[in-house]
Amino acid sequence: MTMTRLNKFFKSLFLLELLKGLAVTGRYFFRRKVTLQYPEEKTPLSPRFRGLHALRRYPNGEERCIACKLCEAVCPALAITIESEEREDGSRRTTRYDIDLTKCIFCGFCEESCPVDSIVETHIFEYHGEQRGDLLMTKQRLLEVGDKYEKEIAAARRQDAAYR
Ligand code: SF4
Ligand code: SF4
Repeated sequence: MTMTRLNKFFKSLFLLELLKGLAVTGRYFFRRKVTLQYPEEKTPLSPRFRGLHALRRYPNGEERCIACKLCEAVCPALAITIESEEREDGSRRTTRYDIDLTKCIFCGFCEESCPVDSIVETHIFEYHGEQRGDLLMTKQRLLEVGDKYEKEIAAARRQDAAYR
């Protein structure tokens, strides 16, 4: 007991803890820096990274989604809501396709289950919401993401297929 108190006394007298801390700082001061100046600098992304969702179209502008609802059924977070109806030409299309990103766990099951490569997860991770509802991705918003990034998405899908 006395030894412990003596120990503590000498440690605080000679500022040993402080010197120990400074030694750690000194050691890392000259090492290669691992901190990046985000957002100017970014770490490399894995090709398997799953980010913001997008709904894709065919080159003629037609929506790929055939409203089969497989993605809705497979989603473990119940984040997808789909409503659909038959068109005049007999094809079936969604009238509503929502993904609630506050529920989504980015598992990628929706993407995996889609038979027509319609719902995909992009490499986009820089998005945010400021108001209630900002993170509810409606069909319109999902199609807009798809339209904007189609080139990149198509290239990623080709790369994906090459790996398989
Ligand atoms: S990534 Fe997973 S959790 Fe998110 S919408 Fe798709 S299936 Fe649901
Ligand atoms: S996105 Fe794909 S899996 Fe989901 S309803 Fe449309 S076609 Fe089916």
